Amino acid sequence: MPDILFQLKAVLRCSGSLEPIKQELDVFVREPARTLLKRGAPPGGGAVIEAWDVAGNTLELELRSDRFVRVHDALLRLKNELSRLLARHRIGIRDIEIKSYEISLEWDASIKLGRLPFVRELKQDGGRLILVLDVDYATLERRIPDRLLKLLEEKKEAASWKGKSEHWELLFESGSKPRGFDKDPTEEMVKRGWIVHAAGRGQWIYGPQLTRIFRAFERILIEEVLKPLGYEEMIFPKFVPWAVWKRSGHAKGIYPEIYYVCTPKTRDPGYWEDVMDYYKITNEVPVEMIKERIEPVGGMCYAQCPPFWVFIQGRTLPDEILPIRVFDRSGTSHRYESGGLHGIERLDEFHRVEIVWIGTKEQVIEHAEELRMRYRRIFDRILDIEWREAWVTPWFMAQEGKAGLAELKEVGTVDFEAILPYSGKWLEFQNVSINGDKYPKGFSVKLQSGEDLWSGCSGVGLERWAAVLLAQKGLEPGRWTDAFRRFTGDRLPEVFRFL
Ligand code: ATP
Ligand code: ZN
Ligand code: MG
Repeated sequence: MPDILFQLKAVLRCSGSLEPIKQELDVFVREPARTLLKRGAPPGGGAVIEAWDVAGNTLELELRSDRFVRVHDALLRLKNELSRLLARHRIGIRDIEIKSYEISLEWDASIKLGRLPFVRELKQDGGRLILVLDVDYATLERRIPDRLLKLLEEKKEAASWKGKSEHWELLFESGSKPRGFDKDPTEEMVKRGWIVHAAGRGQWIYGPQLTRIFRAFERILIEEVLKPLGYEEMIFPKFVPWAVWKRSGHAKGIYPEIYYVCTPKTRDPGYWEDVMDYYKITNEVPVEMIKERIEPVGGMCYAQCPPFWVFIQGRTLPDEILPIRVFDRSGTSHRYESGGLHGIERLDEFHRVEIVWIGTKEQVIEHAEELRMRYRRIFDRILDIEWREAWVTPWFMAQEGKAGLAELKEVGTVDFEAILPYSGKWLEFQNVSINGDKYPKGFSVKLQSGEDLWSGCSGVGLERWAAVLLAQKGLEPGRWTDAFRRFTGDRLPEVFRFL
């Protein structure tokens, strides 16, 4: 048995009886069809017609193939040739019914599979997996079986990476700094009334003191990094429709972490009247009733830069405007972090400055380096913190066949991590990523010269910067550097008191 075997049964319904031309069909099946189904395959490979039968207006076909001319391709080829043959007898093909479609392939039984799209039944038989597909002709025209096999390949690959999560390699260490604080800064800030837990999960209300610190971070970033490196500010959308995540690649996997956004199916008040009435009578929001009346249209900002790309989607850029350097700090990011929430370190709603640069490969790699050096000056001279930098390769990149590029350190991410003395753990507080041609390709952006366009992005998490600085230095401005106090002032604002 070949490593992979495809079997298909189909019924072609025609506009007239095929009985009178049975002889001609027999000749067709014997020769032209035989060659047709081997075309492009290595010797001995390809598809074959295992059985066929004519009854009135219908032609039944049984096809079998290896990986080369897969049965659905074979069926498409046969349909075209048969259409021509039948046309000579003024007969048309009305419709094609797929009676059955099975794929049998070698599969390691230890890699467990859940439900798969377009698969009615999954059977593990020794070292082989049998997939009984649930497909119609239109699905075969979209080549869904090919995509299904690609998906299985990816699952196999992902299984081999499981537990290894990501590659981590130390690039730089600031060395230790004197520590003067060992408490959890979130708890301290709550005690002092600087922050209050908001009504939502993983969400805080930041009082004037911490807000002053966040704004100081932004100003430092602008003065020390963004202005000198030639950045301009933009405002990126914060609701992200599916179309954007399809192009950015996020649609492949972020479902467990999305804050979903839904629109009403209609804004006709009559359609919502029973919902309103239910609330008025019970003081309960009838979530189940609402679910039936809304449509998920996307999610809240997750990675920040994807919706920016629509600005240049489908356009060609003149080479001389490169490198493009823009940043956004216009709103919140949202992730469903589930059980991982902790203080202001891991939130469902957080604030981040997102920095995006676009250029040729050389420009993008070089710029990432400049950015890192600028960041280092901030952490060293202004915040005076202990941090390290590590090269990380997320497993999805290896999975996308980009492990080679990652090994060259051309595509991938540098994580900046800092020690939290109260827990002894390292926390990632920002990253610098070189994304290769992923975004320009995904959003069809081209360069006039035809050269490859690359991009990079860097996310500066304000809560993470605060968590790191306050965990290492404490909450008293007197313990911070003069350079940092230049941005915050010597005293933080006091607005609220409670009785
Ligand atoms: P982690 O491994 O800590 O979950 P991540 O790899 O998911 O982080 P990225 O996707 O690289 O984070 O996001 C870029 C930056 O956004 C992070 O360096 C951090 O500053 C910030 N960030 C991401 N997730 C959160 C969160 N849940 N709460 C606060 N800040 C976050
Ligand atoms: Zn980004
Ligand atoms: Mg995360």
